[in-house]
Amino acid sequence: MKITIVGTGYVGLVAGTCFADSGHDVTCVDIDQRKIETLQRGEVPIYEPGLEEMLRKNVAEKRLTFTTDLSSAVPDSKAVFIAVGTPAGESGDADLRHVLEAARQIGRALRGYALVVTKSTVPVGTADKVRQVIAQSTQVEFDVVSNPEFLKEGAAIDDFLKPDRVVIGTESERARKLMSELYAPFVRTENPILFMDTRSAELTKYAANAMLATRISFMNDIAMLCEKVGGDVDSIRKGMGADKRIGYPFLFPGVGYGGSCFPKDVKALIATAREFGVEFDLMRAVERTNERQKKLLVQKAVRHFGSLADRNFAVWGVSFKPKTDDTREAPAIEVIEGLLGKGGKVFCCDPVAEGAARRHFGDRIRYASSPYEALEKADALFLVTEWNQFRHPDFDRMKAIMKTPVIFDGRNVFNPSVLREKGFIYFGIGRGS
Ligand code: NAD
Repeated sequence: MKITIVGTGYVGLVAGTCFADSGHDVTCVDIDQRKIETLQRGEVPIYEPGLEEMLRKNVAEKRLTFTTDLSSAVPDSKAVFIAVGTPAGESGDADLRHVLEAARQIGRALRGYALVVTKSTVPVGTADKVRQVIAQSTQVEFDVVSNPEFLKEGAAIDDFLKPDRVVIGTESERARKLMSELYAPFVRTENPILFMDTRSAELTKYAANAMLATRISFMNDIAMLCEKVGGDVDSIRKGMGADKRIGYPFLFPGVGYGGSCFPKDVKALIATAREFGVEFDLMRAVERTNERQKKLLVQKAVRHFGSLADRNFAVWGVSFKPKTDDTREAPAIEVIEGLLGKGGKVFCCDPVAEGAARRHFGDRIRYASSPYEALEKADALFLVTEWNQFRHPDFDRMKAIMKTPVIFDGRNVFNPSVLREKGFIYFGIGRGS
């Protein structure tokens, strides 16, 4: 099948590459000329494990091409996916500017029946808006389908090829058949394609992300309580997770959730609820807890050191989570800004997100090529992103390099008693300090 993907970011590029790999003829479109030129050279503008090899293979086999010219790609396509960004607008609602602009351009380019699929995370009712916008500029027949994406950055290829479920919102039998055909290679095991109405599909994505964010904030509140009453949140996590009704995933307290999805999707869900006269108090609390949590490490540092002025701080990890270079809404950004705001000096290290960190901070901070280099003369280490590379460092070597052996462990990665035995002053999240 000939497919066009509009928006070649984390989602569009992964979806396009995976569809090409399953035998379809895919054109990825983006308005970002530099991004398209990079891709046309066979280079991948983002870090995503496994993506580069798969992309190169499919480009070489001529199933995957890149262009800025939507009007040349759409006319022959049976399915056109909209995978552009939906950032938070001023009042927290999802900004649909890019989605509706893409719809407008698709409408002008359609020449025969096509399926237009909203893969971007979009609020309830967007499929209807997309349908209206397209209908304004074409007479040809088309269907609009909601197909929210659930992939996780860092494991995106695997998630796309082996999804837990595929959610498809449509009322059209023709669309249902085409979507089943497209996704058949990825749901060979029991994992289902769940067909539903478009509004339910749109809301499912927000409900899923909001639930995950809720689990994180819940654990962060339990961690806060542990710090007040004495108690180890990690023991509690295990005690809770063993209950099959609860399970282990997403029970890790830390420096708060970040990334390009949870923060904006929680905001957008609150905004949608408000628009329809529902005050989603629970999600507002989830958001408040998260904001507090992002500030926690710097507060702990101030409590320990008094003034942070002219102190040197190593920060390990800038991306919002391991295995990605994405720093959108990353807790590390807030931690580093907090340290700089109090006069501290920051030397950071991240295995793949240095470029993104440089774009944000420029020469306001220094960039180390190894975790140990970042520790030179450091008054303290802040572990913010739990990359595997940071999990088992040589503590004796660290102690020898650092000015004072103080660790703020934002992900509860290290064992506090081992560190204290080695003479470190250790601060974790909800572990008694
Ligand atoms: P992104 O910012 O990485 O990519 C979006 C791309 O769309 C950009 O390259 C931008 O230049 C392009 N674009 C904008 N307007 C365009 C237009 N009119 N025509 C062509 N291209 C255009 O975004 P992303 O992280 O891939 O997210 C895309 C959507 O998918 C969002 O709604 C997001 O919430 C959702 N989503 C993201 C993830 C994730 O992990 N990143 C997971 C699931 C869902």
